[in-house]
Amino acid sequence: MKSEALLQTKIIKFLRHEGRFVIKTQGGTPGTDTGTPDVITIYPDGRFIGLEIKRPDGKGVVSPEQNAVGKQIQRNQGLWYVIDNWEKFEEVWRDVTTLI
Ligand SMILES: [Mg+2]
Repeated sequence: MKSEALLQTKIIKFLRHEGRFVIKTQGGTPGTDTGTPDVITIYPDGRFIGLEIKRPDGKGVVSPEQNAVGKQIQRNQGLWYVIDNWEKFEEVWRDVTTLI
């Protein structure tokens, strides 16, 4: 399994273990808009959280479509993050859980 997929699996497992509603999207497949975050979850206060997962070696590039979708989410009071390693995810999750 590729490193991005491994990171994504670990994040999804963590979120499901925490009891979060999680959608794993299938980027690049018919029916999924280009730029849709890889993982979508909802915080219990109703906030939409989109996670764009990138490979941990730092070589992953956020596409213009992904950035545009991220900005749309943020304009709508949602949260959107690019995650390229587990430590970054832990940091983001700490921020998310202390925002309420
Ligand atoms: Mg990705």
